[in-house]
Amino acid sequence: MDTGLTGKRAIICAASKGLGRACAMALAREGVDVVITARTVGPLESAAAEIRAATGVTVTAVAGDITTEAGRAAALAACPEPDILVNNAGGPPPGDFRNWEREDWIRALDANMLTPIFLIRAVVDGMCARKFGRIVNITSGSVKSPIATLGMSNGARAGLTGFVAGLARQVASHNVTINGLLPGPFLTDRLRSNMQAAADRLGRPIDELIAERGRASPAGRVGDPDEFGAACAFLCAASSGYIVGQNLLLDGGAFNSMMG
Ligand code: NAP
Repeated sequence: MDTGLTGKRAIICAASKGLGRACAMALAREGVDVVITARTVGPLESAAAEIRAATGVTVTAVAGDITTEAGRAAALAACPEPDILVNNAGGPPPGDFRNWEREDWIRALDANMLTPIFLIRAVVDGMCARKFGRIVNITSGSVKSPIATLGMSNGARAGLTGFVAGLARQVASHNVTINGLLPGPFLTDRLRSNMQAAADRLGRPIDELIAERGRASPAGRVGDPDEFGAACAFLCAASSGYIVGQNLLLDGGAFNSMMG
């Protein structure tokens, strides 16, 4: 498939590891110059070097916390007129809502709802004027099928999804699309460290627990981040301009539903 993305520019947030990194790599393979962000410089520079070496595109690493105004300003300064924006950040911790204070909720809303909204606000009008834009929000399968212990994630990501459902329809006529990518379990550092904690607690091998997690879906395995990146590149393709306001679930069929 020719995605028609050669020479485009993208900001991919939270992309030194995991799903963000996979999206950056997939876009770079399509000839997109990428700006990638993360808070920790070492892994960020390593990811940038790997993407550069694998693809030959221009890769700019911007260290910073994307949930802060300064972090967002730095990313935008490195790429003021992106053609593609991939929103991503770490997820809120699990827990019992009885223990969460206002500050906890504000942190979750900042990271998983307001940060994407402010980044979209900064770039969407330019995209409309240039008649091309692709915005992908990495959210979670929990948007469709809430996970009780991840209440802050459920709430903040649902808020973002609701907001962009309206906006996506306001900008689509300018060839600007906004869609969500909803991961089920993908084998990233995050999943691995969660699984390691469970393995330590239960005294069982981590690989056994990962395999068990995988068997919970009809695909019989957890997802490979490269598969997630490929879906991101597909949504960003020039030929995907008619895919508007959708939420694409990548969970190996775990969500049991006839339609979507
Ligand atoms: P990961 O492997 O831990 O990678 C997270 C990446 O985001 C790292 O590069 C990290 O670098 C960066 N990051 C985190 N917070 C940041 C911030 N405030 N500012 C800038 N960069 C930041 O995680 P992942 O599995 O790819 O998960 C990505 C998102 O998908 C999360 O919101 C997660 O909740 C969601 N999700 C993942 C899965 C899954 O199975 N993997 C399933 C459902 C939902 P630094 O730490 O150096 O900043």
